[in-house]
Amino acid sequence: MSKRFRPLAADIAFVAVLTLCTALALLTVSYNSDIEARQQSAIYLSMLQRDAAFLTRDIGKLLRDIDRGLKALLDAPSRRRGEHRQADAFRDILRGAPHLRSISFVDPQGKIAFSSTPENIGHTFDLNTCVSHTLTPESLLRICPAHSGRDIADGAPLTDNGKSTPEPGFIPITHSRLSANGETMTLVATLNLDYLARQAADMLEAYGAARAALLRADGLRLFDTEMPDAGLLMIEREISRRWKENHTGEARQLEAIDGRHWIVADRPHPQLPIGVVLAIDHDKVMESARQRLRTNNLTTMLLMLAGMICTLFGYLFFRHASRRERDQQRQAEARRHLLESTLNACTKAIVITTPQGVIEWVNPAYTALTGYTAAEAIGRTPREQSKSGMQSGSFYAQMWQTLLDGRIWRGELVNRRKDSSLYDEFLTISPALDSGGAIRHFIATKEDCTEHKATREQLAVAHSHLNAVVENFPGALVMEDTQGRIVLLNQFIFELLGLPGTDEYVLGKPVHPLMVFSSHVAEDSQAFLDRIKELRESARPFYNEEIHFKDGRWVERDFIPIHLHGDLIGFLYIYRDISQKKRHARELWQLATSDPLTGIQNRRAFFEQIERERARLIRYPGEAALLMIDIDYFKRINDTHGHTAGDAMLKHVVQLVRKLLRESDVMARLGGEEFAILLPQSGREGALGLAERVRAMLEENPLNYNDTPIHVTASVGVTIVTASDSSTDQVLSRADHALYAAKRNGRNRVESG
Ligand code: GH3
Ligand code: MG
Ligand code: MG
Repeated sequence: MSKRFRPLAADIAFVAVLTLCTALALLTVSYNSDIEARQQSAIYLSMLQRDAAFLTRDIGKLLRDIDRGLKALLDAPSRRRGEHRQADAFRDILRGAPHLRSISFVDPQGKIAFSSTPENIGHTFDLNTCVSHTLTPESLLRICPAHSGRDIADGAPLTDNGKSTPEPGFIPITHSRLSANGETMTLVATLNLDYLARQAADMLEAYGAARAALLRADGLRLFDTEMPDAGLLMIEREISRRWKENHTGEARQLEAIDGRHWIVADRPHPQLPIGVVLAIDHDKVMESARQRLRTNNLTTMLLMLAGMICTLFGYLFFRHASRRERDQQRQAEARRHLLESTLNACTKAIVITTPQGVIEWVNPAYTALTGYTAAEAIGRTPREQSKSGMQSGSFYAQMWQTLLDGRIWRGELVNRRKDSSLYDEFLTISPALDSGGAIRHFIATKEDCTEHKATREQLAVAHSHLNAVVENFPGALVMEDTQGRIVLLNQFIFELLGLPGTDEYVLGKPVHPLMVFSSHVAEDSQAFLDRIKELRESARPFYNEEIHFKDGRWVERDFIPIHLHGDLIGFLYIYRDISQKKRHARELWQLATSDPLTGIQNRRAFFEQIERERARLIRYPGEAALLMIDIDYFKRINDTHGHTAGDAMLKHVVQLVRKLLRESDVMARLGGEEFAILLPQSGREGALGLAERVRAMLEENPLNYNDTPIHVTASVGVTIVTASDSSTDQVLSRADHALYAAKRNGRNRVESG
């Protein structure tokens, strides 16, 4: 059977055993109930017998008391003192006799002469219906038939077979005596049938299905709790017959003559004319006993069922609880196993000690580190095994102080292996506290940090190298991580930006304030910040970006994203002051593009100018004009006045001509004493006009050289530049031809070509 089905089988077995036990218990209860019903019936019977004896005795005593009372009244002298006094005496007696309704005096003529109940007076009382039985020779007690009604005045005898109704109803009891003059005087006491009914009811209450009857000795029915059926009447007749035959002794029988009733018949005394009959319906009693037992059994069964359900639930609850506990134990065991496996798999050496430092557990890494096996380590102290003597006593004292304060101790120390070799160890000891805060264990993790130490040394060296590079780098360096914190910064950045040396701009602090400061130094603060944002977002390197500072300096920036194993870890900003470089470049450019003597553009720059103009004309169709100017007979000036005068003349010519030019016009010295002017957006007519003005200007304005006027003229060739020109040379060639034509045609003139 698989493990999964074992609990199910146990459950089924438990339920089966429980059901079997319950069934057996129920069978036992039901088997015993029949026996119990019989036993209960037998008990009832003996109780009935006993109760009949009590009832009989009580009734006998009652009758004797009544007889004695009546006798005493007849003997009392008060009777002779008048009827009213007699009636009062009767009422006095009645107050102490709740079982009697009235006492009346019957005169010798049979008439009631006076009575405790005035209504009775005058009524005739028939003594012939009363049966007598002598108790003593002096007294004569008679029991009369039972009457219905409240008293003699409204009462009437009941028939023999009729039921004696307890309410209203009474039994007259008479006592007679002969007076001195030979007359019969009789007292009649009426016995309250209610009284008998209450006594019978009290007694019968316990039995159920029982009846009590009071019979006169001659068999006359005086009182009955129920209407008798024919069977019972027959039985009673048989009982009274036996009583008549047996006058001398007590008659007591117990019979079930009709097979259905149990009868108990009893006479209180052979001299009393009365007997008691008690009857129980045997079948009904048995049925009632069975009914009660059934109810009891049902209750028992329900209790047993409830017990069974409780047991079942209890079983299920405990089974569930025990299973949960088992599961929890299994989980705890699995967790413990996992933890132990983890600790065993850990590459760091782990040692668990008692609070006194005695080793309780070590992992395999401990053996690998120290050379001691778990068996060698457990029960010893780390001090005994590993102490190298390289640490001072105060070192250990400080360690213990930290641990006993419940804090974690971390540090490096030199320890000794089993083979006596020394090694650097990085040690962490954590106190494990219980819920009350007391130290239960120390957990130590050990690492051989010999290599780590060497690496750290190397790193420190590398760091100092880097520091030297950074601090001596010919530029300002700022590096930020991806969180925008400064990770590298050198002194140049302070010098370059004029940054104050506050704590705000140090490693680990946000780079943002530094950027804001830089933006204020830059000419366009917003553009500076926007560009930084753009660079960061692009995360691509960007070199030699020039920034103009407000103070006129030019700074060049390199932006370099830094990656580690392919992941972006920060950005490096390098700023270099390129103001000097810029200046040099500008000077070089100046040199390369201008004529040193006159300061105007040289030939090369002018050619580029024409190239640009041609390109513009292709895009925006139109015209431009080109003037080529050559000073006439310049050689002569040199020859006559000297080379310096020639140079002065060249400058003089430039000064004169430039006065005639627009802002957009460009003048260049093509070489020697030859000049050219580019007139953008100018047609032939305009160009010829200007050329004429140039010619005239030169002719009319001689150079004053050392107070000597030196006259000069120039020949001018004019041409138009259009989009259809295929090259600059073509344009220049046309201008040259025009100039040549001017020379040829006599100089100091303008020709167009
Ligand atoms: P033409 O009317 O035909 O142009 O006669 P020209 O004498 O002006 O022409 P030519 O080309 O024979 O002479 C040019 C002279 O200009 C020769 C050279 O000595 C002189 N020259 C060239 N460059 C300079 C300069 O920079 N300074 C001085 N002073 N003279 C220069
Ligand atoms: Mg010339
Ligand atoms: Mg020339």
